[in-house]
Amino acid sequence: MAASLERDATPEQQNLDAIIVGAGFAGLYQLYRLRELGLRTRVIEAADDVGGTWYWNRYPGARCDVQSLSYSYSFSPELEQEWEWTEKYATQPEILRYLNHVADRFDLRRDITFSTRVTAAHYDEHAARWTVTTDAADKIDAQFLIMATGCLSASKLPEVPGLERYRGRTHETARWGQQEVRFDGLRVGVIGTGSSGIQAIPIIAEQAAELTVFQRTPNFSMPAGNRPLTGEEVARTKANYRAFRAAQRNSRAGIPAEPATEFALATTQEERNAKYEAGWQKGDLVSLGGSYIDILLDPAANETAAEFIRAKIRAVVTDPEVAETLSPRTFPFGTKRPCLDTGYYETFNRPNVHLVDLRKTPLVEFTQTGIRTSAEHYELDAIVFATGFDAMTGALGAIDIKGRNGVALSSRWSAGPRNYLGVAMAGFPNLFTITGPLSPSVLSNMVVSIEQHVDWITDCIAHLRRTGYHAVEATTEAEDAWVKHVAEVGAFTLFPQADSWYMGANVPGKPRVFMPYVGGVPEFRQKCDEVAANGYEGFTLIKQGEPAAV
Ligand code: FAD
Ligand code: NAP
Repeated sequence: MAASLERDATPEQQNLDAIIVGAGFAGLYQLYRLRELGLRTRVIEAADDVGGTWYWNRYPGARCDVQSLSYSYSFSPELEQEWEWTEKYATQPEILRYLNHVADRFDLRRDITFSTRVTAAHYDEHAARWTVTTDAADKIDAQFLIMATGCLSASKLPEVPGLERYRGRTHETARWGQQEVRFDGLRVGVIGTGSSGIQAIPIIAEQAAELTVFQRTPNFSMPAGNRPLTGEEVARTKANYRAFRAAQRNSRAGIPAEPATEFALATTQEERNAKYEAGWQKGDLVSLGGSYIDILLDPAANETAAEFIRAKIRAVVTDPEVAETLSPRTFPFGTKRPCLDTGYYETFNRPNVHLVDLRKTPLVEFTQTGIRTSAEHYELDAIVFATGFDAMTGALGAIDIKGRNGVALSSRWSAGPRNYLGVAMAGFPNLFTITGPLSPSVLSNMVVSIEQHVDWITDCIAHLRRTGYHAVEATTEAEDAWVKHVAEVGAFTLFPQADSWYMGANVPGKPRVFMPYVGGVPEFRQKCDEVAANGYEGFTLIKQGEPAAV
């Protein structure tokens, strides 16, 4: 049952300065920073606890693919020192424990209303405040509204008929229950071979009697090389955390890495393969793809890296036909998010694992007892959906957001997301989005980008308070220029060539727009800092009672 804000909140909590939607990495840190400013703030979260991504995605094998020591908050040196990461890539339970620790350590829970979904947010121009409606039919209002709703929080199921007929067990990776799920002795089907499927499949394969993997598009996956962290390396990082965090912020993806200095095609195949091998052995997301300047710019350069990975797949998978089916050939390497795995390709050598190529034999329907493709019917006791998200805009689109003059965000974004710096929209005063579309977000270590956006939003609100302004709103000109810039930088790369969730291609009818900003974390930070230093250039600052510039 949804909690009642009107009933549970104290009068002071109802007389709010700010409402934050979401209690993942972003919402928790934003609450911490707004409290520092002295703002009366309430967080509204659909789940019954903190954690966001790490609350919902409890499927077997779920873990981060940015190294734990890096995929963590930098704002509190004390927190950095006291928390002990145990593995190179932390498991979901460990990251969830960390976020619970953060919530407790900074006493954040008292300002969070759980089990409550925000359904609408309307700007009241007369009062210059946002009125937020929840699924408990509560209405609360505040001067500022901050969406910490997540880029990958609106999960989606395949658009295939008949699911309601299916009588077996179903599980969704992004909505995994809190109870342990086992598949011993069962005939299991997994649909989806993105990062979630690739992490879950090897573990499900060990339990299931038979596992059938339904693959629409094979992905490029590299071995994570996960292992326990040694006390020595943890101590070394902790002793140098400030320099390490600075290196994160100054790196393109928020993950410290040597920048490439050479072009792939200017070297020999032996040299390239040696470099790719070194990247492969590092077991991270950035080293192989970052080997050369032109991998994400030149199709021929990209193909050298793609073929290196396909050769790795052929070397592991014993059946050549299965190896070929697992080999990505329909998009350049890196233009769909690469995956890190533990024993993924090896799993397809198991006698109990079968691969179905949905490009040759598409899904037709779910039946009472399984899945029918255009070629065959598969009897299944359980189906696991690892079918991804309506990414970057899905969670915002699920809320009825209306700005000045009652204009709906959904209509403003009907041809794709429009905003300034991924953080603010023309026509929507005092509404902020943390790691919104058109910011580096999903192309980066998300915690680095979340902290950057939260710090910027907090500084902006502090500036308004200091200078006696009531509201801030992106101008249409600044928004148009930013949308154009993001598209131009994206078009310079190979990213738009893939049918990826970055492009909205996984959601039927969604506009095809390359949504993240590919200019890099440091360049983005510099632009945001310049905007602030120039008195919030590209924004209109509004005094209470003054009309906003249109
Ligand atoms: P989220 O964690 O998604 O939190 C958003 C919260 O908002 C959710 O709890 C949701 O319930 C709530 N919410 C949404 N809409 C509403 C509403 N209308 N009303 C109330 N509440 C609402 N990124 C990396 O950088 N490195 C990784 O290794 C990595 N691994 C990932 C693994 C998985 C399985 C997934 C799915 C994503 C991963 N990501 C990773 C991306 C990850 O989403 C971010 O790193 C980060 O956790 C996002 O935090 P957030 O607070 O912005 O959003
Ligand atoms: P995803 O990458 O979008 O993968 C979804 C998979 O389901 C794809 O293989 C997709 O095929 C398939 N699919 C979707 N609809 C289908 C349909 N109708 N029929 C058949 N197949 C269908 O989603 P995800 O794996 O959940 O990952 C999303 C993102 O979350 C990742 O890219 C990453 O950023 C993050 N993540 C990170 C980790 C980690 O390692 N830390 C783990 C999980 C998630 P197509 O490719 O053909 O669309």
